[in-house]
Amino acid sequence: MNILDSELIQNQLLSKGHELVEDPKKANVVLYNTCSVRDLSEQKVLSRLGIDKQRKDNGEELIVGVLGCMAERTNTDILAKNPHIDILVGPSRLNEISGLLEKLSDKSIKRQIALSNFRFRKGKKLEHEPMDSLEALDAARLTHGKQRKSQAYIRITRGCNKFCSFCVVPKTRGPEVHRTIESIVKESKALVQSGVIEITLLGQTINHYPDFARLLREVHDQNLELKRLRFMTSHPRDFTDEMLDAMAMSERICKYLHIPAQSGSNTVLRRMNRGYTREIYMDLIHRAKAKMPGISLLGDMIVGFPGETEEDFEASLSLLKEVRYQNVFIFKYSPRPGTVADKNLPDDIPWDLKKKRNNKMLEFQKQISLAEHQKALGQILNILVEGPAKNGDVMQGRTEGDQIVLFKGGERLIGKLVKVKIQDATALSLMGEVI
Ligand code: SAH
Ligand code: SF4
Repeated sequence: MNILDSELIQNQLLSKGHELVEDPKKANVVLYNTCSVRDLSEQKVLSRLGIDKQRKDNGEELIVGVLGCMAERTNTDILAKNPHIDILVGPSRLNEISGLLEKLSDKSIKRQIALSNFRFRKGKKLEHEPMDSLEALDAARLTHGKQRKSQAYIRITRGCNKFCSFCVVPKTRGPEVHRTIESIVKESKALVQSGVIEITLLGQTINHYPDFARLLREVHDQNLELKRLRFMTSHPRDFTDEMLDAMAMSERICKYLHIPAQSGSNTVLRRMNRGYTREIYMDLIHRAKAKMPGISLLGDMIVGFPGETEEDFEASLSLLKEVRYQNVFIFKYSPRPGTVADKNLPDDIPWDLKKKRNNKMLEFQKQISLAEHQKALGQILNILVEGPAKNGDVMQGRTEGDQIVLFKGGERLIGKLVKVKIQDATALSLMGEVI
């Protein structure tokens, strides 16, 4: 979500005549698009802000902005501790940034703030709503600059109504708002026309979109040149058979689900307010596997949630074994101010134990990932080539199931779909040869 937000902000600013620089030290405007999901991400931003403060103290002319969830969450707090911040913009008002920058060019104007301070209205009816002025940001990407990419994100929903007890997102991104099917399809068509062959639809609980199955079919059926359509993140509570069928029956929808369980213990799931049990979750996984054999499953897990016993933790490990995810993102519980868990549940698992469980789970999942990857040995898979791999002189691409594949090949393959025969596998990636 943040990658897309940053891209949309860049588009807007480039269209207003701003330029990107490679080295942040050479920038006259520094904008941080921030994440508040865990404390660690916020700490990183605070330490970078220190660098900008020094530049300002040295008399450099510099505008410093904090955008996104951390701006919305910390509000006046962050300003009090960092008086050198010139712009504070919440995730639901990002469309206003270029206007705020313009205002700041008048030296008599000191600071610009655009936050939403969401107040939740309970029991609000779920419906399609025009996404207001923020949607202008999404629309603008199509009209400015050259879109020469092969992959793109499209947001279909903003915000979240779920209130998992540990999570800050509903507070920072606000209640759910859905774009219309027409506007999403229109954006997808324009992207495909510009050369995009893989689209990922985005939403915090994406399958809570009203008539999600129809949306999937429409985007798929109306874009015959689109090679891959995927979506994330799915919430286990909202998945219907109709959605699974739409996936199974649409050839170019990736057989891929990012569907976090967070825990394998029913007592923990209840305290997390996730709205499902382990049994309900597993039933969904079995249904998905029955309709789409070979489907690639990705998950998120939290270790060290308040009150998590050894038994609860073991239940999480056994869930990993039962589901057999291709990959799992594991997080150590981090209390977030303003959440129900922070208010009502003491953060009673010591850091060392969180770390120990985190490492144990990583090691445990590694074996499963390796075994899942090994199933691909000898197969010929379609790979969307992304570019040179981080280390080594090989190229990197991804399978339909989002597995990383490394292979020897030239830069001209970037953005193309190639067939690769898989010859080797590790827990993290596959290796093979273009055929
Ligand atoms: N909407 C997505 C998750 C968004 S946050 C969903 O419901 O699946 C991404 C991930 O961060 C979550 O899945 C969770 O595993 C992790 N996370 C969120 N809040 C956290 C916290 N307070 N401490 C640790 N991990 C957290
Ligand atoms: Fe956070 Fe839960 Fe909403 Fe996901 S579903 S964004 S974890 S509150």
